[in-house]
Amino acid sequence: MISVEEALKRILVAISPLGLEKVNILDALGRVIGEDVYAGRAIPPKDNSAMDGYALRMGDTRGASADTPAMLEVVEEIPAGAIPEKRIGPGQAARIMTGAPVPEGADAVVRMEDTRKENGQVAILVEAKHGQDIRLAGEDVQPGEKVIFRGEVIRPAEVGMLAAFGRSFVSVHQRPLVAIVATGDELTDIDETPSPWKIVNSNSYSLAALVLDCGAIPLQIGIARDRREDIVAKFRAAIRADLIVSSGGVSVGDYDLVKEVMKEEGNRMQFWRVAMKPGRPLAFGMLGEVPLVGLPGNPVSAMVSFEQFIRPAILKMMGRVNLFRQTVQARLGEDINKKSGIRHFIRARIQRDGDLYTVITTGDQGSGILKSMVRANGLIILPEGVTTVQAGGMVTVQLLDDSLDWTLEPGY
Ligand code: AMP
Ligand code: MG
Repeated sequence: MISVEEALKRILVAISPLGLEKVNILDALGRVIGEDVYAGRAIPPKDNSAMDGYALRMGDTRGASADTPAMLEVVEEIPAGAIPEKRIGPGQAARIMTGAPVPEGADAVVRMEDTRKENGQVAILVEAKHGQDIRLAGEDVQPGEKVIFRGEVIRPAEVGMLAAFGRSFVSVHQRPLVAIVATGDELTDIDETPSPWKIVNSNSYSLAALVLDCGAIPLQIGIARDRREDIVAKFRAAIRADLIVSSGGVSVGDYDLVKEVMKEEGNRMQFWRVAMKPGRPLAFGMLGEVPLVGLPGNPVSAMVSFEQFIRPAILKMMGRVNLFRQTVQARLGEDINKKSGIRHFIRARIQRDGDLYTVITTGDQGSGILKSMVRANGLIILPEGVTTVQAGGMVTVQLLDDSLDWTLEPGY
């Protein structure tokens, strides 16, 4: 048996980030940028007004108040986007809108609320300070400044910054194409009429959804029957992908042929019993240049193993440096007993409770009980050495989504 860390390490060494492609900045959302981005221009490009008001010379407002306003001549009106035509001389002001360039000669803006129109002039009711309500050219970004670093995930803020530079395209790591192969004579496809002896191939869909959730592209290869030739054919069809994921056929049954086929077809095939539950059997090898992970067939085992091994591998391919789900500490709501020596991943619901999190299991933990996965938003991780945790004890929870703060109870 090998540890979860060891299995993960062996998979991740075989995985490299994919190459780069240019995509539209909106398509770049959630992708990892493959270039450093330097500012090609100053933002903002010119000094401009932060307020609707009057651009003026600070010295003209000395001693001004509501009772003793400074009276100025209004020489022009500068809407946002306009170019000022006049220089502001002593005793003069320009009506100015937010975002409009500050005219020459002016060194402050006084907001509308601190002014009054009077006899065709403007009365300034306060003393202005130097530079007041003027946004300086380059105060956000200086030309030549490095603003986005290679390897960062593009979020809405980065999209906005790229747009501000007039960049409509950006270099990002490619999205991995992940082939999904289900194996099993008992499987029937989603649209076929299931007979009582058959099981609908749900794994191909849950795994494809997990692939999509990582930001990668699933490639459905379909169902391989438990025959050597069929598994070989499906694996060969999968080889155009960047990563192949299969489910089923990695246990010790007579028809569990995936690992044998992997041994024959590929090289450096490794088969592990990972010290975890669910998801103990795991096969890993290379099919030519393409990494192949054989997941167990039970629906929950396949998903939990995907979370622990495939998700980090896909994120690494996408150029990400943070490969793991967030974990938090939570107070356990019930007693749990387990065997020593293996790590347990227990389907659970975690919820905020004031400043703390509390967590309860979502019922039967059988590796075929997909319902308890449906109800889970996290996995309690119980370490190898632990055999019992009592209600009230603190446990580590791996978050599967961001539904921690449910305030309304779903209908169960
Ligand atoms: P295996 O690992 O091939 O022995 O599969 C274990 C069990 O997982 C099978 O008996 C099925 O009940 C279930 N199973 C395997 N493959 C799938 C699949 N693609 N979709 C849903 N259930 C599956
Ligand atoms: Mg099987």
